[in-house]
Order: sequence, then C-alpha cells, then structure tokens
Amino acid sequence: MTTLAPVGATPQPGSTTKKSFGKTPDGQSVDLYVLTNKNGAEASITNYGGALVSLKVSDRNGKLADVVLGYDNADGYFADKSYFGALVGRYGNRIGHAQFVLDGKTYTLAKNNGENTLHGGIKGFNKALWAAKTLSTKDGQSLELYYLSKDGEEGFPGNLKVTVIYTLTDANALKIDYTAATDKKTVVNLTNHAYFNLAGQGSGDILGHLLMIPADQFTPVDAGLIPTGELRDVMGTPFDFRKPTAIGARIDQADEQLKLGGGYDHNFVLRMTMDHGESLAARVVEPTSGRVMEVWTTEPGIQFYTGNFLDGKTVGKGGATYPKRNAFCLETQHFPDSPNQPKFPSVALTPGETYHTVTTYKFSVEK
Ligand code: BGC
Repeated sequence: MTTLAPVGATPQPGSTTKKSFGKTPDGQSVDLYVLTNKNGAEASITNYGGALVSLKVSDRNGKLADVVLGYDNADGYFADKSYFGALVGRYGNRIGHAQFVLDGKTYTLAKNNGENTLHGGIKGFNKALWAAKTLSTKDGQSLELYYLSKDGEEGFPGNLKVTVIYTLTDANALKIDYTAATDKKTVVNLTNHAYFNLAGQGSGDILGHLLMIPADQFTPVDAGLIPTGELRDVMGTPFDFRKPTAIGARIDQADEQLKLGGGYDHNFVLRMTMDHGESLAARVVEPTSGRVMEVWTTEPGIQFYTGNFLDGKTVGKGGATYPKRNAFCLETQHFPDSPNQPKFPSVALTPGETYHTVTTYKFSVEK
C-alpha cells in the first residue's frame, strides 16, 4: 500500500510523502514526493521537470548523505540551466546545427547551445510540469510521471506520450523506467541528468572518485561537442576506464578531446548484451565514504560529464555552492546527434512502436 502522509510529516520507512515544493511562474502547484525504503534510503522527486531533487544513501558506517546536486524549492528548478537531476527530452544531448532529416523531411529545432540543440531545446522536458501518481510495487515505492509533448514542440514531429517511473527499491537502487509512443515518426532519446557526488553534495570535487566504464570505444567530438562520427578505441587514451581509475588522474592531460570538453564530456560506447536486459555501464567508488554506485542500463551509450561548466555561482540545497568538477553525470542514452549519424544506433520511433528503456543506479558500500 502506498501511504500518502500529510505535509510536514516525517517520512516512514517504505512510504511516500507528498509535500508542496512551490508554484510555477504561472501559478500551478509543484509537488515534491519523498520515497523511502526499508533501509532508510530516501529519494525526493519533483513533478517539475521530473527532477530527482535529493537521494540519501548510507556510507560504510551507515551514515546517510545526499549524493545529488539540486535546489531547495521549485524556483531553483525554473532558473536552472544545468539540468540538475532533470528528466531530459525529447532528445538528450546535442543535435548538430539544430536540424535533422527523417524520411526525406528536414526538421528545424530550437537552438539553445550555439548552433546546436541541447537536451530537447529551449523548453525541454526538464521545464515541463509532469502529472504524477504514486504506486507501490513489489520492488519498493514508485512515482509515475506522465507528460504529453505536443506535435511540433521545439520543432520535433509527433505527439509524444511519455511515462517515466522512478522506483526506490528495498535493495537501495533507484530504477528509472522510460516509455514513449508517438502518432508521427519522430526521434526520442530520454535520460536523467543527475549530478552525483558520492561524498555528499556540496562536499568538494569528485576527482578522487574511482570510475570504471566497461567501454572499448568512445565518440570523439568537434569544437561544438558534436560527435565526428568516429568510434575511437579508448586504449592508450585518458578515456580508458576499463580498470577503475580516479576521475582526476588524467583529466588535465594535454589531450585534444579533453581540451574540447573542458574535461570529460563524452559518450562511451557500451558493450551490449544480446538479451536486451540491463548491462553494467559504470561503477563508481568514493574511497573516503565507501559509497559505491553502479549504473545498469538497456541503453547503448553513456555520457560521462565532469561538471566542467559548473561555476560555483549557483546556490543549491542548504546554501551549498557547486564549483567546477564538484559532481559528475553518467547519463545513459543513445549517442549524441544520432539523427544525423546513420552509423549510430537509430533513435527513430514510429507510430505503433513503444520506446522502452530502463536505467538503474544501484548503491552499496565497500569497507
Ligand atoms: C552535456 C554537457 C552539458 C551538460 C549540462 C551534458 O549532458 O554533455 O555538455 O554542459 O549536460 O547541460
């Protein structure tokens, strides 16, 4: 049973609490849903942008810390330009020159990143108010979010019905299940843009976190961070994370790709399993707290971004500020600019088909 506790109540283990989180600029109520599990882990999600606002998990001594960046209220999310915790769509990451051709027709999109479209355009899914429903599943507490992206929104064709289900499981995992359907052929690439710091949000840089990504190749980019189309071997480059390596160990090397990204801001090509289930896409260990996060996904790629554009000016939760490289993102996805890259896995969605992807962030500790 889902128990919706009244505003102001302390969340009970294994329950969901709904609170007011503010109002949109046009006066609509924004809510915050606090999901807890039987171990005391807690995930807070707002229906504004579907953003993951906080995620509290234990360290090796059982001490909880909030491991994602965010804001204290809805106002922070209206003003946000960094996509903290947000659901990103209709197309995660960049589409070059803000256009693509589908079945011979050219679609022109909103430009919001130089010449390019980033994360869905000027008003992406991160700036939408989603309809929310709490659910209790066998795995834990869930929040189902629904958004209808209208035909032509930000230039994309087709009415796209999107459902995202967040589940905080009793095994200390946050599972995100994405489905979508369209009434006209379109392109879709949905993700979540959580910024993680496993030592706790606002606690400093993430350069000492140890990262492993089981990817043999990555997609190098041009000066606009658009993939060149090449799949480059990671062997012998600072992009080889096949063995756990500190994020900061090579980040300032004189490498052309690191310079273009201002650090890591690249898509890694994941080894795909044949059964279409989730595969391990990344494992991160924070040595001082012992917190471990694994990312599992059905997606073929993952964007590893080291918060290079964070500037410390934004005031986040509890007054924390977030300077450059104080968090990292691991955004599961199809590759950036796929609509213009015929050799990349397809992102086209046709009427009658169902888009379905699953990504799970699993938390544990190492002694
Ligand atoms: C992109 C970065 C961008 C960040 C915030 C990441 O997914 O790859 O280039 O700055 O999102 O928008």
